[in-house]
Amino acid sequence: MKSHNYQVVITECDHGSIEEEKEEFSRIGAELILAQVKEEEDLIRVCKGADGLLNQYALLTRRVFEHLPNCKVVSRYGVGVDSVDLKAATDLGIIVANVPDYCMDEVSNQTISMILTLIRKTAFFDQKVKSGQWDFHSGMPIHRIHGKILGLIGCGKIGLEVAKKISGFGVKVIAFDPYIEKAREGIELKDLDTLLKESDFISIHCPLNESTRHLIGEKELQKMEKRPLLINTSRGPIVDEKALIQALKEGRISGAGLDVLEKEPPDPKNPMLKMDNVVLSPHVGFYSEESISELKRRTAKNVSDVLMGRRPRSVVNREVKGKTRAFISKP
Ligand code: NAD
Repeated sequence: MKSHNYQVVITECDHGSIEEEKEEFSRIGAELILAQVKEEEDLIRVCKGADGLLNQYALLTRRVFEHLPNCKVVSRYGVGVDSVDLKAATDLGIIVANVPDYCMDEVSNQTISMILTLIRKTAFFDQKVKSGQWDFHSGMPIHRIHGKILGLIGCGKIGLEVAKKISGFGVKVIAFDPYIEKAREGIELKDLDTLLKESDFISIHCPLNESTRHLIGEKELQKMEKRPLLINTSRGPIVDEKALIQALKEGRISGAGLDVLEKEPPDPKNPMLKMDNVVLSPHVGFYSEESISELKRRTAKNVSDVLMGRRPRSVVNREVKGKTRAFISKP
C-alpha cells in the first residue's frame, strides 16, 4: 500500500538544506525525494513516479517528460526557465511554474547601496583610512544626493522598488521602458536619449535579451551629458564593458556600480578591478538568507498548490490552460 498520496522529486539543487521544502510537502502528506541528478537517463530513472518536480539547472527535455506519466507540474527555483522544454511540457499538459519576485528587496537595496557608496565614496575612504590616510581631501569632490535625478532603464518590479526607496533621499526618478504606457505616480517616462541626457545616476533593471544586449554602448555613453554614475544590477551583457571602461578612463562618467559583468568572474586583468570609482560585487544582488528561504518555500508551494487542485501563483506556460494533467478546481 502507498504510504503517500504524492511523490515529489527535487531533480537537483545547490542550496544545502531543504527544510522549507520538507515542511511544505509534509503538510500535504507527499513524499519528497532529493535526487541530485542531471543526466537525462538518471532523471528518467528517479523521476518516473513523480507527480511534481522541483528543478534548478538539470535539463528537462521532451524525452524526460515523455517518461513521466504522472508529472503534473514543474516548479523552477527562480525566474528563468531555460532548463525546461516549455513546449514539450505544454504539449503533455504539465504546468511549469516559477518564482519571479523573491529578491526585489535585496536587488533594490544592492542598487541603492551602490549609489550611496559611490556618492559618499565609502569604499574609497575605507581603503584610504585602512592604509593610514586620514584625510578627506583625497575624495573631493563629493556631491549632495538630494535633488539629483535617477534614470531607470526598465521600470518593472525591481525598478519600482528602487524608485520608491530612493525617493526618500529626495531624488527625482525618470524611466525608460518601452513596454509600459504609464509609470507609477512620481516617475516620469522618457525616451532613452532624454534619460541618458538628464540623469545624474542611471540604473539598469531590464532583462537581457537580443534587443537589450549592449543597450548601453559607446553611442549611449556619449549621450550621458551629466557625467552620471552607472549602476547595473541586472545582467552584465546589457552594458558594452569595453565602451564603459573607455568612458571611465576618459572621465565621461563619474563612476560605476556593477553587481553583474559581461564575464563572471572577471578577467584578473580587467582594468575596472583597479579603478577607485568602480564598485563591484559578485552577482550577489539576489541573495539574503531570507530571500533564499522564501525562494525555497515558494518553489515548493507552486507544486503543492497544483497537487491540491489550486492554480500556482506564477505559471510560465499559460497556454497549458485547458489541457493540464492536474485537476485545477480552485483559482
Ligand atoms: P521585471 O520583468 O519586473 O521588469 C523588467 C522591466 O524591463 C519591464 O518593465 C520591461 O518592460 C522592461 N524592459 C524590457 N525590455 C526593455 C528595454 N529594451 N528597455 C527598457 N526596459 C525594458 O523584472 P525585475 O524583477 O524588475 O528584474 C529586472 C532584472 O533584474 C531581471 O531581468 C534580472 O536580469 C535582474 N536580476 C538580477 C538579480 C541579481 O542578483 N543581480 C536578481 C534578480 C533579478
